[in-house]
Amino acid sequence: MSTERDPDCLFCKIAAGEISSDKLYEDDRILAFKDIHPQAPFHALVIPKRHIATLNDFGAEHAELAGSLMMTGRRLAAEHGLPGYRVAMNVNHEGGQVIFHAHLHVLGGRRMKGELG
Ligand code: 5GP
Ligand code: ZN
Repeated sequence: MSTERDPDCLFCKIAAGEISSDKLYEDDRILAFKDIHPQAPFHALVIPKRHIATLNDFGAEHAELAGSLMMTGRRLAAEHGLPGYRVAMNVNHEGGQVIFHAHLHVLGGRRMKGELG
């Protein structure tokens, strides 16, 4: 699902500033903030401000937005001096997704462990 906002969505509330977050980057379309339960010394989440539930809900009209999420992750890593890092997006329950507002994980600050799955 893609809509401007889902009233029941936690990340829509964070995007709207109704729930506080530790912001790392913001523009008119994108917000990045620290993950509340970091799995590495650096763990950011990069989200579109509009509600898009999963990667599968990105349409062709969202291709540039998808690229901007990735480029934001890259920029955060550079700004935080990470020599290497990992970006990941969980898709659907089977992919480990818990919050159904699409988000890119950016992890770094130590050597990443070998297993992804
Ligand atoms: P998922 O498993 O859906 O890919 O990842 C959801 C992520 O959101 C988890 O890493 C979790 O720690 C993070 N998270 C859940 N609730 C909050 C919150 O209220 N604030 C922040 N900053 N992160 C959250
Ligand atoms: Zn949402």
